[in-house]
Amino acid sequence: MLKEMFEYNKQFVKDERYKEFQTDKYPSKKTAILACMDTRLTSLLPAALGLKNGDVKLIKNAGAVVSHPYGSVIHSLIISIYELGVEEVLVIGHDDCGMQNLNSEKLIKKMHEHGITDVDIARSDGATGGIEDWLVGFQNVEEAVSGSVEIIKAHPLIPKNIRIYGLIMNPETGEVRQVV
Ligand SMILES: [Zn+2]
Repeated sequence: MLKEMFEYNKQFVKDERYKEFQTDKYPSKKTAILACMDTRLTSLLPAALGLKNGDVKLIKNAGAVVSHPYGSVIHSLIISIYELGVEEVLVIGHDDCGMQNLNSEKLIKKMHEHGITDVDIARSDGATGGIEDWLVGFQNVEEAVSGSVEIIKAHPLIPKNIRIYGLIMNPETGEVRQVV
């Protein structure tokens, strides 16, 4: 897979196909989006919202969740706001998300099948504050998106003038509906 990508990349650069993507690091729509990493959204999400290269800061993870108030999502948002001029944050979850009803017990069983030992699990328990809770998904995407929006809104390091919205996308049609 990487080999194919390298070959493609060589040709891409040679043909100067990068020219249509040229922009700078400042998001022209002054917006940051936290979205799910779901493969159905990779091209669909920017296409359905009319976004082109350079328009937004796009932060992705499993489920579009802020799992920790001082984790990497908030870190990225703080950089986006203070260094890159972001004034609006959209949290975009989607229907049929893999994080919905994720079963941490089953996941831990799969870890065991991949050679992870109980000692490794126990060590991670301390670092995560309980691995089962850390791995857990959510029951309801509306609640998950609102929960993330609330964490961002209430965050002491996020300025109050930042507009924060929660949306849910249909992963087939790209249609969005607003939650918060
Ligand atoms: Zn998802």
